[in-house]
Amino acid sequence: MFSVIRLLEPQLINRIAAGEVIERPTSVIKELIENSLDAKATEIHVTVRGGGQTLIRIQDNGCGMIKEDLKLSVQRHTTSKLSHADLWNIHTFGFRGEALASITSVSKALLSSKTLNQPHGWSLYIEGGEQQDFKPVACDVGTCIEIRDLFFATPARLKFLRSPAQEHIQITNCLERFLLLNPHVTFSLRLDEKHKVFDAASLEGRIKQLLNLQAAEGFWLETQIHDVKVTGWAALPGAHRRNADRIFLYTNQRPIEDRMLVQSMRIAYQDLIPKDRYPCVIAFLSIPYSDVDVNVHPAKTQVRFKAPQEIRSVLITALRKSLIQYGQKSVSITPK
Ligand code: ADP
Ligand code: MG
Repeated sequence: MFSVIRLLEPQLINRIAAGEVIERPTSVIKELIENSLDAKATEIHVTVRGGGQTLIRIQDNGCGMIKEDLKLSVQRHTTSKLSHADLWNIHTFGFRGEALASITSVSKALLSSKTLNQPHGWSLYIEGGEQQDFKPVACDVGTCIEIRDLFFATPARLKFLRSPAQEHIQITNCLERFLLLNPHVTFSLRLDEKHKVFDAASLEGRIKQLLNLQAAEGFWLETQIHDVKVTGWAALPGAHRRNADRIFLYTNQRPIEDRMLVQSMRIAYQDLIPKDRYPCVIAFLSIPYSDVDVNVHPAKTQVRFKAPQEIRSVLITALRKSLIQYGQKSVSITPK
């Protein structure tokens, strides 16, 4: 009898992994922006055509990659970030070394990069995970990644894409999370013919640029209980929204999604906003690295807290405290 079990081809492994990391165009944008931020870029330019399926281009002025690293960057499990097996102490966005491998396995990708010390950059063209071209190029210090024909290699995934307009909304939401986290970085976003630039600013300036609210139309947050700290900004109740698109939640400098914490924010605002509405809050949680696991899902937008109830109560306390102070000045509210 012959053995029937065999190791999958690396390209197939990458495509299977891509299904988890790269769900839709906005996942590509998220991963590439994170890489640019990890590379210490101070300028990040994002261009999107056709909902991201035609083109996604991210250009940064970060540290760039040398020739050898550019080639390695698209391999699976290759990373410059996680140097030892310390999954509880991660300070960069990336660490799994699979984003570029996944993205380039399901698209046609052109990567060019140059470091400060190189006389010229290098460019790599890769189609469906297969390297087609590698050559020197003239380019600025930093990295430019162009993704075309996303999911051409996995047609089943194409069927799940929404209209370009809907994908653009998701892409904008994703970019907004990074805008508030990195106000000192200049970002630009081109969605087909629409172009918007967000110059480097303070958080206060970004709130104005992005939310069109003055800092005075809300309050700064700062509360610490034991070793969990919340900072950020929350708008006055009047700025409530129909959905959670103005709730920006971060754990240790990483944008996260957490239904329970969104619910906690609504609880903090209850009686002040209509029942079916959501407040506008920017909350940065600092939690000891050993108390939060970011390695829950390949997309890393969900995290697992060791003590979720504690986080919840710090967040509610931070918001209630400020709302009560505000309430004492203007409207009357009953503290819970
Ligand atoms: P990870 O971010 O988890 O390390 P990625 O597949 O996203 O994995 O990237 C692989 C590696 O490629 C990174 O560790 C980094 O060294 C390099 N890299 C990717 N994007 C950039 C960039 N914009 N600038 C500089 N280096 C980059
Ligand atoms: Mg990465």
